[in-house]
Amino acid sequence: MQLFAIFGDPVAHSRSPLMHNSVFKNAAVDACYTRVHLQDGSKLRETFFALGLSGANITVPHKEAAFEACDEIRGFANKVGVVNTIVNENGRLIGYNTDADGFMFSIEEFKNIKNILIIGAGGTAKALAARFLQEEYHVSVLNRSAARLAYFKELGCECFSWENFELKKYDLVVNTTSAGLKDEEFPCPQTILENILINCSYAADAIYGKVTPFLKLAHEKNIPAKDGANMLLGQGVLANELFLHGTLDKELIKTLMSHSFKL
Ligand code: NDP
Repeated sequence: MQLFAIFGDPVAHSRSPLMHNSVFKNAAVDACYTRVHLQDGSKLRETFFALGLSGANITVPHKEAAFEACDEIRGFANKVGVVNTIVNENGRLIGYNTDADGFMFSIEEFKNIKNILIIGAGGTAKALAARFLQEEYHVSVLNRSAARLAYFKELGCECFSWENFELKKYDLVVNTTSAGLKDEEFPCPQTILENILINCSYAADAIYGKVTPFLKLAHEKNIPAKDGANMLLGQGVLANELFLHGTLDKELIKTLMSHSFKL
């Protein structure tokens, strides 16, 4: 039996085991998917091999450590230095990023997007910013600390910390911070967020499974808003396809994985 896992801190909230096991069980694949609470990202590689894993997903805050842990990086992950999926290919760890395409899948119903504000500057923000720039969107980034903004400036984004933020109109605002995941915090000061939302057409949160303070405020301002569930589904389908080396059809994976969202 092949074993897969998700690494994160926290990881107890993750729906990935349900999603991937739903595919394995219903498509009669001899595999099982579990979760691993990993506090020290530098231990990712040795833990992966100690558990005899065939593949893994990586969530907050270890996606950059996952990039470092791999022997080879393929595709979009090379562009962003952030890995959320690892496949064990004959003892070599191959790293991929499926988050950005998963997010594009999740916002298909939001039309006429050209101007996006990303709140947060971590691994998810990096992947999304690079993907949005590929679509030739105008991308702004707002982060609590200025230190992480240099990467985004170089990429071609307009960058702000809370202290120097200049309000503009945005088609979409995306919360990629972990504010609201384990706490009830806004991703930036409430007054700034209120002004952003009333000047914005759509809102999306990368966090799923709960109504974060960010989403609650978007609902209060009557902004069409989505949580991260569809993004999760999209990245999961692409990761599962990689785990199974393309032996299952993507549409079948999507159907079987979607069942787990009803559990
Ligand atoms: P990282 O740890 O790489 O980055 C976290 C970011 O959040 C940093 O910019 C950090 O700012 C900011 N931040 C953390 N706490 C606060 C706070 N209290 N107030 C304001 N800013 C804060 O995380 P990831 O990019 O890997 O993940 C971010 C979120 O996205 C997580 O909640 C994760 O669960 C979710 N996610 C969901 C996915 C899905 O499929 N739906 C996929 C991927 C991620 P600073 O630089 O100042 O520390």
